[in-house]
Amino acid sequence: MIKYNLKCENNHEFESWFAESGEFNKLNKQKLLECIYCSSNNIQKSIMSPMISGIKLNENNMNLLDQKLLNEKNELIKLREHIEKNFEFVGDKFSEKVRDVYYDKKTKKSIYGTTTQEERQELEEEGIDLLSIPWVDKDN
Ligand SMILES: [Zn+2]
Repeated sequence: MIKYNLKCENNHEFESWFAESGEFNKLNKQKLLECIYCSSNNIQKSIMSPMISGIKLNENNMNLLDQKLLNEKNELIKLREHIEKNFEFVGDKFSEKVRDVYYDKKTKKSIYGTTTQEERQELEEEGIDLLSIPWVDKDN
């Protein structure tokens, strides 16, 4: 089973499980998928992009990341493995935890997790640097 985050034309996001990776495309072509909120058949796979913090962003590692984005999927998988190994996963508690890290200067923890659009905007307004990375499916 593979879980995908899906998104409809009205930007509703939801999750769905599929038996295998090709099943999404097959069902979607036949218009058998619909948004759980508005029943739209215009569904896309939305790549889960967890937020990471604890990296001081400067031009150099931004370039590095850009480079990684341009590279093959293998590179993104390496990036994912690096983050999984070195960062603490906090799931949807990210916006809460990232403030702990940000305002308590002694904590130098690196965390990753997910945020909603609004949470992300709030954090940006507070001046908290975040990086959104493309999350590649390892078994796809
Ligand atoms: Zn919808």
